[in-house]
Amino acid sequence: IGITLQESIASIIVKPQLCTPAMDAHKYTRGLVVVVAGRMSGAGLLAAQAAMHAGAGYVKLLAAERMIAPPADLVTMDTSSDSSLGEQIDDERISALVTGPGLGRDAHARGRLKQALTADRPTVLDADGLTILAPEMLRRRTAPLIVTPHAGEMQALEHRFDVDGGCTKPARALEVARALNAVVVFKGADTVVAAPDGRIAHAPPASGWLSAAGTGDVLAGIVAARLAVTGDPWKAAVQGVWLHGEAARICGPAFTAGTLAHKVQDALACAL
Ligand code: AMP
Ligand code: MG
Repeated sequence: IGITLQESIASIIVKPQLCTPAMDAHKYTRGLVVVVAGRMSGAGLLAAQAAMHAGAGYVKLLAAERMIAPPADLVTMDTSSDSSLGEQIDDERISALVTGPGLGRDAHARGRLKQALTADRPTVLDADGLTILAPEMLRRRTAPLIVTPHAGEMQALEHRFDVDGGCTKPARALEVARALNAVVVFKGADTVVAAPDGRIAHAPPASGWLSAAGTGDVLAGIVAARLAVTGDPWKAAVQGVWLHGEAARICGPAFTAGTLAHKVQDALACAL
């Protein structure tokens, strides 16, 4: 803290070393990921399935609607009422919580976000969750936080948290990391990860095919799975960015419009 950008340590994200599950592992020791989705559960579903593919032992999707034909390998629940959501997230076994994708931006969404952040579990915050985030929602938190803004969401965060990191991507990521006390994954073709202690990491080139709807939701799920597995927000962010990029490098040429986010998910097994 107090380090300038010039003094900070920048690195390039390289292939991470991932642990295989221990012989005596069970679903909770491998990590329970809970996705707090909103009324648009499609994006939440993408994040949840990606978490499943990226090494979590158990994934629960808490939707705000009754889901029709959810996938069989995923526990899905209708938690449209505050009490049902509260009951589900008040679970000490949760190793990572992800919210934002498909959350919505209305008062209902804000209420869900507040509840999710107050649970004070290790959290990945993305998409609508970033757009409606208010500084007071983070005030009492102590658990690790990772935020994954794209350029537009970054601007909204800078405005709401009153930070001005200048004009370079690493400097902006670093300032927001400090203001939120969170690891920041500032996305785009040139993704940068920054931590409040001054660490900065640049993603290697991934694939232009990633510029499609849904791929950000997939990244949020992957990062949440890595947070559940490692318990370390920095490792989770860099491992997640690498796996997401590797999956795109593997299957990029095979993409067809519309199915891209699912293809990335499928390629995750290979990337792992
Ligand atoms: P979002 O903007 O939330 O939909 O997320 C899009 C995801 O795709 C992020 O992980 C970006 O870093 C990635 N992405 C978008 N465009 C490109 C690109 N041209 N090259 C590499 N990655 C990209
Ligand atoms: Mg997004």
